[in-house]
Amino acid sequence: MKMYEKAPAKINLMLDVLHKRADGFHEVEMIMTMVDLADRLELSELPRDTIIISSQAGYIPLDEKNLAFQAARLIKDRYNVKSGVHIHLDKRIPVAAGLAGGSSDAAATLRGLNRLWRLHIPLQELQELGAELGSDVPFCVTGGTALATGRGEKLTPIANPPQCWVVLAKPPINVSTAEVYGRVRSQSIAVHPSASRMQEALEAGSFQDVCDRLGNVLEDVTLKLHPEVQQLKEAMIKLGADGVLMSGSGPTVFGLVSRPSKVARIYNGLRGFCKEVYAVRSLS
Ligand code: ATP
Repeated sequence: MKMYEKAPAKINLMLDVLHKRADGFHEVEMIMTMVDLADRLELSELPRDTIIISSQAGYIPLDEKNLAFQAARLIKDRYNVKSGVHIHLDKRIPVAAGLAGGSSDAAATLRGLNRLWRLHIPLQELQELGAELGSDVPFCVTGGTALATGRGEKLTPIANPPQCWVVLAKPPINVSTAEVYGRVRSQSIAVHPSASRMQEALEAGSFQDVCDRLGNVLEDVTLKLHPEVQQLKEAMIKLGADGVLMSGSGPTVFGLVSRPSKVARIYNGLRGFCKEVYAVRSLS
């Protein structure tokens, strides 16, 4: 038996860090949504009690460090499944980019194995399993658009952004999420983006307000460490994107674009100095 599962990338429309908790995690407030840039998972049942991960991407771990492996092991152990699975990851989402590629693969593994092994686990329970794997996994289990609080695992579904194009550009630099969060000083953040104002813009279906209210407090940290991310933002604005922001801890920058006629110009303009550029639809 073989099955396919799509694992889309997420972007943050807003991201605020409230404070550091006693357990070391940061208390955050984020609004996340999915875009139509996705990895594709092929899940094949194995008669043996084993988990095999393969991928065409040569630069991700294929052992127990892979989040899809961890998701498969968790569901196997928790539901006492004796058969095994081969998961092939057709990676399209750039790695370590702030787009939650690994988290989305883990979430897609939970959904896919739930179907493959006919476990009938309710979505809420899949999200709870996901929280054991990583803060972004519960959101990736259901997708859509959501307000995420706590360390990112407490979710309230909200309205999707109005349909638009999303141009994503990832500069060729590595950003460590842990380092970026480690450098955030929540008490010295001058302007906090507002989750409620972004939520209002989404509920009202106002594309312009969504663009105007984008905000990510991690930009201050990553842009200082990597000025090329700032340059990329400026280029995207100059080329005519309606709203521009860094996703997660970066380094990917995304631009929201309403008019299809602008998309090719922005895409081609960015390709001039950045190899990894994607133009996709928002997912709603
Ligand atoms: P986030 O937005 O949640 O911080 P990210 O987009 O920055 O995620 P990922 O693409 O998930 O980062 O990859 C981060 C690291 O996780 C990689 O360096 C890689 O070694 C490891 N990893 C584990 N499993 C996967 C996977 N299935 N796909 C990609 N990377 C994975």
